[in-house]
Amino acid sequence: MASSDTPQLRILLANPRGFCAGVDRAIKIVELAIKKFGAPVYVRHEIVHNRYVVEGLEAKGAVFVDELDEVPEGVPVVFSAHGVPKSVPAEAERREMIYVDATCPLVSKVHRQVERHKDRGNHILMIGHEGHPEVIGTMGQVNEGSMTLIETVEDVDNLSPENPAKLSYVTQTTLSVDDTSDIVERLEERFPELKSPKKEDICYATTNRQIAVKAIAKESDRVVVIGAPNSSNSRRLVEVSEKSGCPAVLVQRATDLDFEWLKGAKTIGISAGASAPEILVEEVISAIFARYEGYLEIFTTAEEDVTFKVPPILKDIA
Ligand code: SF4
Repeated sequence: MASSDTPQLRILLANPRGFCAGVDRAIKIVELAIKKFGAPVYVRHEIVHNRYVVEGLEAKGAVFVDELDEVPEGVPVVFSAHGVPKSVPAEAERREMIYVDATCPLVSKVHRQVERHKDRGNHILMIGHEGHPEVIGTMGQVNEGSMTLIETVEDVDNLSPENPAKLSYVTQTTLSVDDTSDIVERLEERFPELKSPKKEDICYATTNRQIAVKAIAKESDRVVVIGAPNSSNSRRLVEVSEKSGCPAVLVQRATDLDFEWLKGAKTIGISAGASAPEILVEEVISAIFARYEGYLEIFTTAEEDVTFKVPPILKDIA
């Protein structure tokens, strides 16, 4: 039992954190699809980047596959929240499959922008991370060669477009707000006629979680971000904290916590990526309080009330 003189550990919990409206909707879509069509329902790609969520849905009857050709005939399929190239629904239609598209509406909005830029005859730059499913999906909205991926400021320096007056850009929704503005700044310096979105496509959830983690990082000795290693927005939260001067680590759940690394910290900041369920946040907090005496403070930088409707095919049972 600690005495009243024992220093109390403070946990600073970022708000907003964790699930965004797009992730909430994608999980609901899989659950409703199982309810409507019966198990199994196939899901192309991890519906959201989180093992805990994926395993929970598997237990309910979802089967996760990488490609459409792994889905047996006559079985419904759901496309993940990250979005898919146009060839995927086209193939599903050719095979007369029942499919439900769980692409986040904010990603679909970027897809529509890509189409508009293409219709204007522009070459499109995609600011994002190579190999991320959202980038594959967005770049797959147009024919190969119509888009160029930009990952760094150096990539901007190396660009030599055929017609600099006919250039546009879009961005992945889960990027670092600060890194992206550096890239955009360089693009605008090099190509003053560049057509930009009204505002960058980084979504409200990514932006809010980065602002919140920046705020707690300033007051913390260590920051723990709950999220998966393949979750882009979770990894950005770690980077944002580190750039704000506070060492940070990404953990999937409490069993990943390294207490040696936390040793000596008086304030531990906690946040979670947009695909990390709150139950894992609670698990991490309980594991810390099982070792240290302390108290929890919630640090709120924004209130969120965004929700998205499920697709019409599921409305009858929603
Ligand atoms: Fe949609 Fe943003 Fe959530 Fe991605 S992080 S699913 S774009 S709300």
